[in-house]
Amino acid sequence: MSSSIAPQLSDAFRLAEVVSIEQPFPSFYRVTMRAPDMQRYTEGGMHFRLLLPPKGRTPVWPYIDETGRARFPSGDDQLHNPVYTFVSIDVPTGHFTFDVYIHEGGRITEWMRAAKSGDTIGINGPGGGAVPVADQIIIAGDETALPAIRRILAEAAPEVTGHAYIEVGAERDIQQLEKPVGVTLKWLIRGRDLGPVHALIENHSDLSPDAPPFVWCGAEKSQVQKARAHFRDALGIGPDHSYLSGYWRQAKP
Ligand SMILES: Cc1cc2nc3c(=O)[nH]c(=O)nc-3n(C[C@H](O)[C@H](O)[C@H](O)COP(=O)(O)OP(=O)(O)OC[C@H]3O[C@@H](n4cnc5c(N)ncnc54)[C@H](O)[C@@H]3O)c2cc1C
Repeated sequence: MSSSIAPQLSDAFRLAEVVSIEQPFPSFYRVTMRAPDMQRYTEGGMHFRLLLPPKGRTPVWPYIDETGRARFPSGDDQLHNPVYTFVSIDVPTGHFTFDVYIHEGGRITEWMRAAKSGDTIGINGPGGGAVPVADQIIIAGDETALPAIRRILAEAAPEVTGHAYIEVGAERDIQQLEKPVGVTLKWLIRGRDLGPVHALIENHSDLSPDAPPFVWCGAEKSQVQKARAHFRDALGIGPDHSYLSGYWRQAKP
């Protein structure tokens, strides 16, 4: 982008300011931020992107180009733009919260470790999957999907039945989740128990594509590919009855 006139910023963009960063569980930050006009983010998906500019560069935020299309900066100005899940949004105050899974090497983890009240970062959204509406649900996910699963279970109607398998690194990260009584919740400890996608496939290997439960899976990409091979390719459960999404990608050794 080469222009001395300040570009018009994308409607989906906000500059957000850190209010507080707490650590309610050993592996999670609970981040509270503030941004103007948050109404837009309350509909159209439960996720958003954090926009982190390259270190040491003046940020170039998503802008509207001469054709009216929203553009993300590229090249040296490219933004790191991982997806996060809203925990809450309070439109009148502009406050919103989300949980960051703390992992070594994560650029957002590093940014959060050093961040202080008043620091700013971009956000863009909303987007991504909505809370599924179904009588029966089966769910698998790891820490990155925990905020989405927590919300799905909390918003499910009381009569919903099903199973949820959630993997965390240690018992200390297990949370109390609000859920319908007919949904059984199994916490899995990484390295000790079968992974959540394996548990989902093993325990639900014989679903009929005619009246399946809603199958929801958010985990590392290669794991989700296994879920896709099983539920979509082998059992024939289509996207109307499933959400199978790679939430992060394991770096190649
Ligand atoms: C729809 C959706 C919703 C999401 N919601 C949330 C959320 O609410 N909270 C949340 O914490 N995450 C969430 N994620 C996952 C998050 O976007 C990714 O984990 C992202 O890579 C984090 O960026 P980073 O800057 O921390 O790591 P990066 O700088 O992108 O990656 C650095 C290194 O960390 C590794 N890495 C990335 N994620 C993990 C992980 N989970 N475990 C171990 N190593 C990892 C990468 O392989 C890479 O080697 C969501 C993803 C999607 C698609």
